[in-house]
Amino acid sequence: MREIDITKGIVENHVASLFKALESDVVIVGAGPSGLVAGGILASKGFNITILEKRLAPGGGIWGGGMGYKYVIIQDEAKDILDEFNIPYRPYEGEYLSVDSISFASGLIFEATRRGVNIFNLTECEDLLVRDGKVAGVVVNSSLTQMAGLPVDPLTFEAKAVVDATGHDHDVVRTLSNKNDVKLNTPTGKPMGERSMFAETAEKAVVTNTKEVYPGLFVCGMSTAAVYGGFRMGPIFGGMLLSGKKLAGLLEEFCSK
Ligand SMILES: Cc1cc2nc3c(=O)[nH]c(=O)nc-3n(C[C@H](O)[C@H](O)[C@H](O)COP(=O)(O)OP(=O)(O)OC[C@H]3O[C@@H](n4cnc5c(N)ncnc54)[C@H](O)[C@@H]3O)c2cc1C
Repeated sequence: MREIDITKGIVENHVASLFKALESDVVIVGAGPSGLVAGGILASKGFNITILEKRLAPGGGIWGGGMGYKYVIIQDEAKDILDEFNIPYRPYEGEYLSVDSISFASGLIFEATRRGVNIFNLTECEDLLVRDGKVAGVVVNSSLTQMAGLPVDPLTFEAKAVVDATGHDHDVVRTLSNKNDVKLNTPTGKPMGERSMFAETAEKAVVTNTKEVYPGLFVCGMSTAAVYGGFRMGPIFGGMLLSGKKLAGLLEEFCSK
């Protein structure tokens, strides 16, 4: 056994993954539930999907359930998506299902990667490529470089479409709006900020507001609340899954044009 053979195996495979990502159909920023569902569905239809996740572990806000209690609740409206991703669940009181957050997060991640989604963890989207009034790709850097505050230049990936699936942060839309003189597809033309908790309204709005917010840039999941002034909803996740599924349909049409 030679250590450099192990190293070659890691380097060669990682570089091949990077090359695949350079010209993606879709780059999804954020590996929370909405991004993983959208990515998984699109990858199974043959699209070249890249997901960027700035943390070590993909899964976003799933892992901690509610206040560290490890179950999340999902409306049975989203049951088909759990079945599609092979996530185990148990019926809970009428219209709800209870899901172990650990199997929920790991199941979505596994199924997305099994279908060919190219997930880069420890990789942060720090800026966008904007060409002719349209988002055309992302500017990425290592999260470790960002955390250390080192002066290291980023790399770029091109994409037909980019998705802000960064949750509360709405990092991508915020960056686009702060750095460019652009008018977003929101009532104010700017990100509108998230409101306090109101689960029922919030869950519906997350799906309604899953859309193209600027040419070439889509929003899904919790970032829709921050961008469109929606309410937060706490640890109920059906809206996130349904948002991911709706996004996949929108992007399938968009990328096939
Ligand atoms: C740490 C955390 C704690 C949360 N706590 C609560 C809570 O207490 N109450 C509540 O109502 N909701 C909370 N949420 C949101 C809740 O979990 C959501 O309902 C659900 O997880 C949102 O799913 P999502 O698909 O929008 O993405 P999220 O689960 O929010 O995941 C977004 C992902 O994007 C990543 N990301 C962000 N910016 C970048 C970037 N620039 N580049 C690359 N990756 C990026 C994040 O690391 C994260 O993994 C929390 C989310 C997180 C991430």
